[in-house]
Amino acid sequence: MKKWLFLIISLIVIGFFVFEDIEFAEVPRMEVAVEKDQLYRGELVLVNGEFPISKQGLPNDIVLLEDYQSMAPGLQMVDPSILISRNLLQNLGLMIKDAEKDGIDHFIINSAYRNLDKQAELYEEMGAEYALPAGYSEHNLGLSVDIGSTEGSMDTAAEGRWLEQNAWKYGFILRYPSNKQEITGIQYEPWHFRFVGLPHSAIMYKEDWVLEEYLAYLREHTQYKTTVQGNKYEITYYKAADGLDISIIPEQPYQVSGDNMGGVIVTVEL
Ligand SMILES: [Zn+2]
Repeated sequence: MKKWLFLIISLIVIGFFVFEDIEFAEVPRMEVAVEKDQLYRGELVLVNGEFPISKQGLPNDIVLLEDYQSMAPGLQMVDPSILISRNLLQNLGLMIKDAEKDGIDHFIINSAYRNLDKQAELYEEMGAEYALPAGYSEHNLGLSVDIGSTEGSMDTAAEGRWLEQNAWKYGFILRYPSNKQEITGIQYEPWHFRFVGLPHSAIMYKEDWVLEEYLAYLREHTQYKTTVQGNKYEITYYKAADGLDISIIPEQPYQVSGDNMGGVIVTVEL
């Protein structure tokens, strides 16, 4: 009797996994071509000491934070000249609002978007040890934000702790963790958050990957499937050298991002 029960439960479990895979595999697909410029832009673009931003990757939704503060009420800024991407600000606003519900509300923005001139100025002023040359900083992409706390340094302040645990839910990742210095080439920066969007931030948080590691995984394995907050995603890597045709599911939302290293990542929501 017990053997039968075991068999039935096993079949249900196996069936569930097989069914999950079939669900992804059997939907009708269609091929679409992506533009070459796409290789250099999108939320997963890697910019580091090795891969500088290219002109196609420069953002086009930069606004003066002060003019758009209604998108993130309660957020302080270190000076009124801070520029920020509208898309990033929108997600930042949602995150700050939820942090407030947990009683964490002493955030201050120290820097967000920096144009190439500003970056060159900073590099000149601070030197190579404290700043990156123009084009090699994520701040030039408009996808990064330096968030501080008016209560103290971010490695100990409640704001830093909260972000470290929760930022992924809003598409952000702690870009330079203390245990990944050898991979990122950048020392621990508890204030620097990068927007990569969901489901990528959730995957990187769960797998304990920095962006370099995540992109390397995708390049090697070409696919990652996951369920995040009840939504199913299929993430596929395409090497541009093999052509720029990608496979999508008609009528289903999808996102395309270059990796700035000759690849394109397509995220299909199922
Ligand atoms: Zn930064």
